[in-house]
Amino acid sequence: MIKDDKCIFCKIIEKSIPSKILFENDKNLAFLDIFPVSKGHTIVIPKNHYKNLEEIPNNALSELFEIVKKVSILIHKKLKVDGYNILQNNFRAAGQVVNHYHVHIIPRWNEDGKFKLYIPKKQAKEEELNQILRIIKE
Ligand code: 5GP
Ligand code: ZN
Repeated sequence: MIKDDKCIFCKIIEKSIPSKILFENDKNLAFLDIFPVSKGHTIVIPKNHYKNLEEIPNNALSELFEIVKKVSILIHKKLKVDGYNILQNNFRAAGQVVNHYHVHIIPRWNEDGKFKLYIPKKQAKEEELNQILRIIKE
């Protein structure tokens, strides 16, 4: 196992700090977020300490997402949610606080007044989109 002694999620994995575990197997763990955005807000993590999306190997990522799907279905059925967001922050600028790769499952109810993806009113100009495409693909 890859581990970082200072990492809070590594401590949750080794159970040196407690958490409310929804699902666990040899490679992954799902537990309730201690500052939930909504009832049932869950964090899914690999047991190996990878910092972000760029560090986690593809096979570990695909196994993790099988668990994200399994736990999402469980939450959907048992909590009778209307929907859920799968959210994943990478690097500080995007709001990543815990540097152990993790996926948020955030249950949603109709008109719950929680966040929505901000849709700017101004549509992009085609030339702007083309320029971005050129930079990314060159
Ligand atoms: P991030 O902002 O890094 O994507 O999300 C980290 C999440 O971990 C936050 O939603 C935060 O509430 C949660 N979290 C941080 N420390 C703990 C903890 O000790 N226990 C639990 N259960 N969740 C935590
Ligand atoms: Zn860790």
